[in-house]
Amino acid sequence: MTTGSKNGIQPLFTFGIIADIQYADIDDGFNFSHTRKRYYRNSINLLRNAQASWNTENIKPQFILQLGDIIDGHNKKDNSSDQALNTVMKEFESSPVVHHVWGNHEFYNFNRDTLLRSVLNSTIDSDSGGGCPSNGEIYAYHFSPASRYRFVILDAYDVSMLGREESSVQYNQAVAFLKAHNENEDLNQPPDCIGLEQRFVKFNGGFSADQLDWLEGVLSLADDQMERVTIICHLPIHPGSTTPVCLAWNYDKLLANIQGHKSVVCFMAGHDHDGGYHSDYCGVHHLTLEGVIETPPGSDAFVRIRFTIILSKSVDTIADVAVVCRAATATAGAVSRVEREGEVCSACIAA
Ligand SMILES: [Zn+2]
Repeated sequence: MTTGSKNGIQPLFTFGIIADIQYADIDDGFNFSHTRKRYYRNSINLLRNAQASWNTENIKPQFILQLGDIIDGHNKKDNSSDQALNTVMKEFESSPVVHHVWGNHEFYNFNRDTLLRSVLNSTIDSDSGGGCPSNGEIYAYHFSPASRYRFVILDAYDVSMLGREESSVQYNQAVAFLKAHNENEDLNQPPDCIGLEQRFVKFNGGFSADQLDWLEGVLSLADDQMERVTIICHLPIHPGSTTPVCLAWNYDKLLANIQGHKSVVCFMAGHDHDGGYHSDYCGVHHLTLEGVIETPPGSDAFVRIRFTIILSKSVDTIADVAVVCRAATATAGAVSRVEREGEVCSACIAA
């Protein structure tokens, strides 16, 4: 997309977004259900293209949002997790501040304690220099890039079988929760049903009461201060913006919470590599970014990774964001989920 002013309005700030890089120094492969090809080694080239684009924008991004799954789980069994992470992080060296989100592939490679001490912990760039106060274990924080604008990073694997010690409360909550909804021996296999119940798989996770309480406080304050809040998370939370198998376990709880706050205008996620978009009845824009990992080499897929969203001072700011994303997708010839209504997507198993 073009940069600079839109309809003569100077942007207040700009930022870049990239989702599901899933880099690994291995040959191409397929997703869990063998329906989609994955270009593990080439994903670093697409990140490079994104950086090149961001660096040549007339108005440079103020920050980058990395929406999780930065390296692939294959690195773990090859004992190359640290090396792969270093390779990707080198590509971010020319970036402005990068806000990292944690996805399931972060936890395939590292446990929670390791991540909290790693370069993927960007709470130092939060407004308070720290995150959600609950024992310091929940990776959630917020920052304000400009007056009356706030971004909140959420931890979708707070209650999870991934990354938590087997003795932890959260791990055992997750096991009990999953087994109550999924009778498969392999909990990465969705339950034998159709619809929203498919989300009860091990590669998803949920939000604890502590995190939801913390978010409630952040959003109430944002309401009072008449801020516009964008929430960032690895897992989507609106069924209209993703295939059901990629939804957060207790998406309905979080969705109800944010719909009760006038400050929330946008929710951005990754995980579903096909992407998606939905505007809910409260006017909240739910945007799921397409994944880098399934973008073929040499294809015109740059819009998946390099667009810069402009938040202007105009009243229609967030509406503009949605239009930009969908228009960019259409330009590349890739059809977004919202434009192929009724199609059943099975591409996201073990996203
Ligand atoms: Zn994921």
